[in-house]
Amino acid sequence: MKKVIIRKTEEIENWRRNINREINFIPTMGNLHNGHIKLISTAKNDNSNINLVSIFVNPLQFDNKLDLENYPKTIDNDVKISFANGADAIFIPSTEDIYPPNNKNIKFLKASIELSSTLCGLNRIGHFDGVCTVVYRLLNLIKPKNLYLGEKDWQQLLILKNLILTKKLNVAVKSIPTERDFDGIPLSSRNIHLSRKERKLIRFFSNELLEAKTIFQQEKKISLKAIIKKLSAEKISIEYLEHLNPYTLQKVRVEDNISLLAGAIRCGETRLIDHVFLMKRRPIIAIDGPAGSGKSTVTKLIAKKLKLLYLDTGAMYRALSWLLIKENIDYKKCGNLQNIFKNISIVFKSNNNSHHDVFINNYCVTEEIRSQEINSIVSKISSIKEVRKFLVEEQRKIGESGGLVAEGRDIGTTVFPYAELKIFLTASIDERAKRRKSDKQSKDSQEIDLDTLKEHIKKRDFDDSNREISPLIKANDAIEVITDGYSINEVVDKIIDLYNNKIPKETQI
Ligand code: C5P
Repeated sequence: MKKVIIRKTEEIENWRRNINREINFIPTMGNLHNGHIKLISTAKNDNSNINLVSIFVNPLQFDNKLDLENYPKTIDNDVKISFANGADAIFIPSTEDIYPPNNKNIKFLKASIELSSTLCGLNRIGHFDGVCTVVYRLLNLIKPKNLYLGEKDWQQLLILKNLILTKKLNVAVKSIPTERDFDGIPLSSRNIHLSRKERKLIRFFSNELLEAKTIFQQEKKISLKAIIKKLSAEKISIEYLEHLNPYTLQKVRVEDNISLLAGAIRCGETRLIDHVFLMKRRPIIAIDGPAGSGKSTVTKLIAKKLKLLYLDTGAMYRALSWLLIKENIDYKKCGNLQNIFKNISIVFKSNNNSHHDVFINNYCVTEEIRSQEINSIVSKISSIKEVRKFLVEEQRKIGESGGLVAEGRDIGTTVFPYAELKIFLTASIDERAKRRKSDKQSKDSQEIDLDTLKEHIKKRDFDDSNREISPLIKANDAIEVITDGYSINEVVDKIIDLYNNKIPKETQI
């Protein structure tokens, strides 16, 4: 495909009509560095869409005239870099093209007040309104499928995601982690303005943030005061340094597992921002839903693709049920149970077929726990208070350091109520019965006709949803995914998109 440079907004429309393909859009203000290159090459490697880079220094987002005048302009080099790294087209409009003086149709937007009235918004009046206005204008012109943005400007990223949501724009946001230079400072077009001395200061600042991240991993707390003291001792002029919830940008709460430590400093005429994410543990995905909704297949694939640990909590309830039956334990006499549990160990081990085997007291029960006998008793046993207490504790131990995707009935409500992403996976009874019937692992597929299977599923749904302790319900903050009519891969991709959209890439590494 011939690479093109487009300069006029009218040409964009013609070009779009002719290419007949979806577009990945990478908006920039030029003076491209490795961060931009990463965005362009990520877009190129993501899919077979056309990659369009725009270079436009948006006057509306500059609150300081001098900053606008001094903003580095290196168009020829930017064009070379963009094409060399995967751009198929480059859009270089003039200011009059983007904001025609007599065009009353240009919408001047306001950024979300909640998200823009803190951090950089406090001192850069109108900056985020300008960013929203230009991105909205560009998105309406280009109509891309995907928008690629860097996480370096985290507040801007949140504001733009919010804009896309509120304006109901049909574009997916893809982000990449902050690219840092050899000395730890985030790459930025403005870095070329830094003198040696200023660069030394910003290096000190960035390294302080990176150190805070390491300290937080061990101690689970930081002292803003101590950091500010250290920065001030170096005569670094701090505009702000805040420890916040990374999504609302409000004060961090004790239950926030991922938090944002963000700061802005001034070095001479240059203002620089940097941030790190502080993590108590790695992220957790909770997937709940009724029998046959596709949880196991979907969860296993997500674990593989995102390199997370896979936790099948249903298998733990099944394994325990198996043991209670095999050993003829009268589980109705709950007095006995706690003592019995002291000597029970349930572990998962991956086998040669890259599946997991379930062991209870060193006995492999992977196959046996899928029998009709277990199907018919497991809901009863899992409604016993002591059983739930024991297994929820075991599950929490497994998830202590995060980095896992767990499936079950009460993961988002009880086991991991602070999971970063909660999914409630469901499907109609008809669809679920059909899936169970064709599931080779399930003994149901051979022995039971479809109607009886539906009745079994309804009964289990009823038992699971109506038990007294942690019944199967959708957590308030869970996203419902109805899988009727969707392929497994479509469901997996949707959940991975939701995960990537929410979890900063830096915390996924
Ligand atoms: O997911 P699976 O069908 O293997 O789960 C078997 C049973 O275990 C469920 O029907 C439910 O009664 C119980 N269970 C539970 N809580 C979980 C997972 C499973 O009560 N977190």
